[in-house]
Amino acid sequence: MSDVPDFWQRPLRVIQPNLRKIDARNLDPVCLVAQIVEYGGNVMLVNAGGIVAWYPSRLSYQPVNEFLRSDFLDAVVKEAHRQGLRVLARLDISKGHPQLLAQHPEWFQVNAEGQTRYEWGMPLTCFHGPYWQRCAFELIAEITSRYAVDGFFFNRFHRDHCVCSACREAFRAQTGLELPLYEDWDDPAWRAFVRFRYQQMADYAGRLRAFIRERNPKAILAVDFRLTSDAPEHLCGAGWLGPHLAKNVDLITVEAFNPLERPWPRYYLWAGEEVRMGRTFQEGRSVCVILTYSGIFSSRRAAQPPAQLAYDLMQIAAHGGQPCIAFSGTFAQDDRKALPTVKTIYHYLRDHAMAYEDLSSPARVALLYSQSTMDFYGRGAAMERCLAEYRGLYEILVGGHVQFDVLHDAHLDRASLRRYALVVLPNVAVLTDCQAALLDAFVEAGGHLIATFETALYDDQGQPRKSSALRSLGRTPERLLPCTGAYLRILDKGLLVGFEDTDLLPLQGGFLLTSASGGAAPQVADLYLVPPIDNNTPEYAYWEKESNIPGLVLSAFGLGEVAYLPWEVGRLYHQLGVSEYKRVVLDLVRRFVRPLIATDAPGSVEVVLHYLKGDPRHALVHLLNATGLQSKPLTEIIPVRDISVWVSGDYVAARELWTGQNLGLDKEKDGVRFTVPQLETFAAVELVAEGCRFVDED
Ligand SMILES: [Zn+2]
Repeated sequence: MSDVPDFWQRPLRVIQPNLRKIDARNLDPVCLVAQIVEYGGNVMLVNAGGIVAWYPSRLSYQPVNEFLRSDFLDAVVKEAHRQGLRVLARLDISKGHPQLLAQHPEWFQVNAEGQTRYEWGMPLTCFHGPYWQRCAFELIAEITSRYAVDGFFFNRFHRDHCVCSACREAFRAQTGLELPLYEDWDDPAWRAFVRFRYQQMADYAGRLRAFIRERNPKAILAVDFRLTSDAPEHLCGAGWLGPHLAKNVDLITVEAFNPLERPWPRYYLWAGEEVRMGRTFQEGRSVCVILTYSGIFSSRRAAQPPAQLAYDLMQIAAHGGQPCIAFSGTFAQDDRKALPTVKTIYHYLRDHAMAYEDLSSPARVALLYSQSTMDFYGRGAAMERCLAEYRGLYEILVGGHVQFDVLHDAHLDRASLRRYALVVLPNVAVLTDCQAALLDAFVEAGGHLIATFETALYDDQGQPRKSSALRSLGRTPERLLPCTGAYLRILDKGLLVGFEDTDLLPLQGGFLLTSASGGAAPQVADLYLVPPIDNNTPEYAYWEKESNIPGLVLSAFGLGEVAYLPWEVGRLYHQLGVSEYKRVVLDLVRRFVRPLIATDAPGSVEVVLHYLKGDPRHALVHLLNATGLQSKPLTEIIPVRDISVWVSGDYVAARELWTGQNLGLDKEKDGVRFTVPQLETFAAVELVAEGCRFVDED
């Protein structure tokens, strides 16, 4: 075995000219490849087959692009290889043409009313039908037999809710249950279908990969999915269980499209978030994030604001991910405003590729993302019921410059917990007994938890538990109180820092009344509930009674400690942005974990620390500037001046990669301090300890 990593495990700069049929009229493969090289790309994701073929296919069901004048795929693969590029062949088997539907109705999806399911006027193909189960393999066989592609990319890799006879039979054979016609979370068969779908998709990816490998041992598989999403059909409805799917593909390829149709409030951290999560599946795992060039998804020919695109591209790279930019058509764009930005960022990443090879996160904090909670507690309303809580806590950790990873609940095990001192559970309502026992053992051995709202109160079927599955929480739930016009009273100004000027916090949403569990160690509490005021007429906006029901409880458990906030601190922060909620959480984080980085940069500047090749003597610090108008896409970045950054570690030299300038270092207790004189979109600072050299000096 060679020690040199395969191409897909090294820094990638993927460019996808997502060709329209009509582009074939004047298409010059040599020119297209030359432009990708000119833009700094090193991998080309190119149309091959499915909707239409970009080569003379001999398969009867595969329509060939009628505008094609020669074998485009052959020419582009040969030219790309001549220029040192890798080529991923894009297949899209998710839809077919109406004439195919007329010939093979059993290849297509059917809804509960017995009608064919469509997207964008094209009939959707069925996962259990012959198009996925046979034709996809024939396509791979045909392409690998003729072209030396470096891998395949399957677009729109969804497993929709089709209820055709093949789907019903497959479900019955595996589970003994009837496939539900409609989504119904009260129906055990629906819940079984959710898990069945995850397993089917992961298994199918494994079969595709094995089939590709048999024909070309060096070719890879990537499929189009998301690790998180705020589109309901992607969050819970597409059949993607991140860690399981990731096991059966080579390159993890996800989307973080940033079109304007995304729900409010705008969440600008998606691209980095998916990288953070995917990177925890396995040490050094490659995560490629696709960004669309377009500002509105369906208006594919109009561009995003350049500032937004630059920010998103650098977010991916700063977290150790691999960016992919997807254009509609070739570089001959109607809207060219963001093209120079793509080129500038890709050139930077090309010229400093060595600094981006094998970055590892030293984070000692993990934020748990629970797909089981999204599914079985979210019950069709996951965005409001649980995604908002998770995202709010993600935003709080970023805004507080905390170094953290995102752990997926399907990847929660003893080995993955070992790296962390603190695990944050953002309303992780669904926890299995086994997962709860793991987390209790983690605390018992000296770890820490911050848990919110209904964490650990539901089983793996989404059924409420009588008591918390987490013993370390030390609390027993009594009653859920919906709150409007309520408050949390701060009594101990020494417990939480920074509340000198206020004695209470506003409270909305659900508040869980709890009591100390029998046998729990003595607890410290604060943030006492001021119950909701029914009459909020100004003349009546007062109260005469308060309660002794805490909104914050600290419980010792073994050698560790748990902080429990039985309300929706994350959702409230995500949706309302009350800064005191952020302070409460960050105070608790600082109580449990020593920071690796501290800075006076505003919360709109994300700071990310990595070690190169796992060596703490060689660090890379990114500062990503999202300071601008936050309710709309970033159209301009407001520069931030004279940012002071403290980094834990014994470093002797610092250099900013973009400018190549050395930065002065001041030795301080347990670390060093440097100043970034002016931060535009981003800065990347390489730090080296004694005996270690900058990457370009090796
Ligand atoms: Zn079907």
